[in-house]
Amino acid sequence: MASRFLFLALFALAISHAFGSDPSQLQDFCVADPMSQVFVNGFVCKNPNAVTADDFFFSGLDKAGNTSNNLGSSVTPVSAANLGGLNTLGISLARLDFAPAGLIAPHYHPRATEILVVIEGTLYVGFVASTNNQLFTKVLNKGDVFVFPQGLIHFQFNKGWTNAVALSGLSSQNPGVVTVANAVFGSNPAISDDVLAKAFMLDKNTIDWLQAKFSAAN
Ligand code: MN
Repeated sequence: MASRFLFLALFALAISHAFGSDPSQLQDFCVADPMSQVFVNGFVCKNPNAVTADDFFFSGLDKAGNTSNNLGSSVTPVSAANLGGLNTLGISLARLDFAPAGLIAPHYHPRATEILVVIEGTLYVGFVASTNNQLFTKVLNKGDVFVFPQGLIHFQFNKGWTNAVALSGLSSQNPGVVTVANAVFGSNPAISDDVLAKAFMLDKNTIDWLQAKFSAAN
């Protein structure tokens, strides 16, 4: 009986591992067909006979994103949504731009680990472990690399006096992003302020004030 339970537990663990990242592909490629009305996990494949080199190509990542916003940062994703050849390949890319003191606010990717390389400037980056809330941080300069494990809350902040640029590789064709403050204080409809006042140990007026700010930002 105990060994049967152990077998089931290990089997469940194996299954959960198998789905810990994007599923592996069953063919060379499955270029996304954006016109399809069929909904599958990812995108339907375009007819392989109609695939060309352009389906694996994206141009424009040399251009800086617009950082004229409250946070002073910009993310330019290259994912299966705008590079159809990435469909089913389990990988994507993003260009990150920062004005001086620009911030990519604490967020997590539900489907991807992120590996970042600084191209220009100086970034203060970090993530928080889920087990004990331990914070891991580092100051990165040009050429430095840092990895943010899948599903963990992390941030990137430009602590230099110049613009900063980084590139991130992500282990999903569609990493997703949950920006913590926006999700909690700017959800639609709003989470009850009774809930948030208790959760954040704040009075309800402060919660209402935060909710007004973030619902306007979302
Ligand atoms: Mn990220």
